[in-house]
Amino acid sequence: MSQLSCVVYGVVKQYPRHRALDGVTFAVPAGACVALLGHNGAGKTTLMKLLLGLTRPTTGSVRVLGADPAVAPPGFRRQIGFLPENVIFYDELTGTDTLRYYARLKGEDPGCCAALLEQVGLSSAATRRVKSYSKGMRQRLGLAQALLGAPRLLLLDEPTTGLDPMLRQEFYRMVQELRTRGVTVLLSSHVLTELEARTDLAIILRHGRVVAAGSLAALRQKAALPVRLRVETGLPETVLQQLADLAITQVAADTVEVVCTVTEKMTVLRRLAGLAEGVRDVEILMPSLDEVYAHFGHAAPGEETLP
Ligand code: ATP
Repeated sequence: MSQLSCVVYGVVKQYPRHRALDGVTFAVPAGACVALLGHNGAGKTTLMKLLLGLTRPTTGSVRVLGADPAVAPPGFRRQIGFLPENVIFYDELTGTDTLRYYARLKGEDPGCCAALLEQVGLSSAATRRVKSYSKGMRQRLGLAQALLGAPRLLLLDEPTTGLDPMLRQEFYRMVQELRTRGVTVLLSSHVLTELEARTDLAIILRHGRVVAAGSLAALRQKAALPVRLRVETGLPETVLQQLADLAITQVAADTVEVVCTVTEKMTVLRRLAGLAEGVRDVEILMPSLDEVYAHFGHAAPGEETLP
């Protein structure tokens, strides 16, 4: 991942009454899958529009695949696939007609459409009108449209909104397949949980500023949220006494809970192991990714740059 697909440096996007982005800096390594996270109105879509060259920064610079997207030649756009947040199609067209229409708009050979529909699992519905498609089928058609021309960079704006858990899994399976072909993927989402193990890096935006950026593991560590050790014991009073110097409470008749930091965890576990007779089982409850997200969502904004 030596090359960078996108470099955003000191970008401010000022609308007449609102500053949508306020000094955003980050870089996306080529071939990475990056999650852009943030609350409603955080600036995710604005950032995608800047990367597409649909709008220009008020100040700062944006480079995508080595070029300024706002002034790049027409051929440049063929290297980028975009799935907007709300995909709108002509209901009376079939899946094939829709894709052929977008292929012509993008200057691609419509002959590639059958293979793309196959890739997103819509072959059997290709001749059906889009008005009969479910939400998941529309999203998949949207993804096929984004894949026209074998793009090097995919920008997906909240691609899994409205998809059921099975379709989400299917969607990420397709994204994974694209990554094995070296495609860089930047996707926006509100949900951190579904991105675990599926993305390399996350950028968390809050009110137009980057409040955290890095791998999910690094963000988890940096958040330094407490770990809970739930201890099942036949002797709760003994355990409470032995570990009285820790943050320990009884949460059920035969269960106590110790709250500690990630760095303290192993020391506490060793002490629990030393109480062999009193401890039947230990469950480690790590902070959830949603908790990590909430943590940074409330943190004081400060710029960060991806490694
Ligand atoms: P969501 O998760 O709801 O889609 P988002 O993170 O994508 O939100 P943006 O759509 O980028 O957020 O909007 C960021 C802010 O900029 C919002 O306050 C929005 O109202 C404002 N904004 C976006 N586009 C414009 C525009 N063309 N003119 C004025 N304000 C705008």
